Amino acid sequence: RCGYVAIVGRPNVGKSTLLNHILGQKLSITSRRPQTTRHQVLGIKTEDGIQTIYVDTPGMHKEQKKAINRYMNRAATSALTGVDAIVFVVDRLKWNHEDQLVLDKLQHASCPVILAVNKVDRIEDKAELMPHLQELADKHDFKAIMPISAQHGHNLKELETMIEGMM
Ligand code: GDP
Ligand code: MG
Repeated sequence: RCGYVAIVGRPNVGKSTLLNHILGQKLSITSRRPQTTRHQVLGIKTEDGIQTIYVDTPGMHKEQKKAINRYMNRAATSALTGVDAIVFVVDRLKWNHEDQLVLDKLQHASCPVILAVNKVDRIEDKAELMPHLQELADKHDFKAIMPISAQHGHNLKELETMIEGMM
């Protein structure tokens, strides 16, 4: 079995950290600064006869004035076609217009979208999470909504299992 998975989201939500944790190596550069990932980065994981090709993408953003930003948006958008699954990464309790912009792009995607709510290790009061997840569920018909911590590995096995089930 083999499948393609695109990892998308606004800048700085933890897309590259997620790819690196899944692959168990520092393949994609991560940083506190937005716009660290400028191209598509491919990572291939082969385990138990299942080959998954992950595409890490630059963050999509609104700023279209600079050529580099237009290039990054194109690189991110083109990753959406021909994939079996999309992992849409957002930053815990902070939905904003940039997330909405990404979601608007995803409305046209023909494959299932998993929403990964990242950095939940930063949420002190876990009770805040439930109503927020409920709000997110109303925004789109997501295949699943999974709270994760890309940095600490929380729920990533479950995420991978979900992805493999879609290939
Ligand atoms: P990208 O722009 O979406 O690829 O984001 P990066 O993977 O480069 O991560 C942006 C910043 O968020 C970095 O400083 C990461 O260390 C941090 N980060 C990523 N995932 C997590 C997480 O699960 N928890 C916490 N606390 N920080 C994270
Ligand atoms: Mg990145």
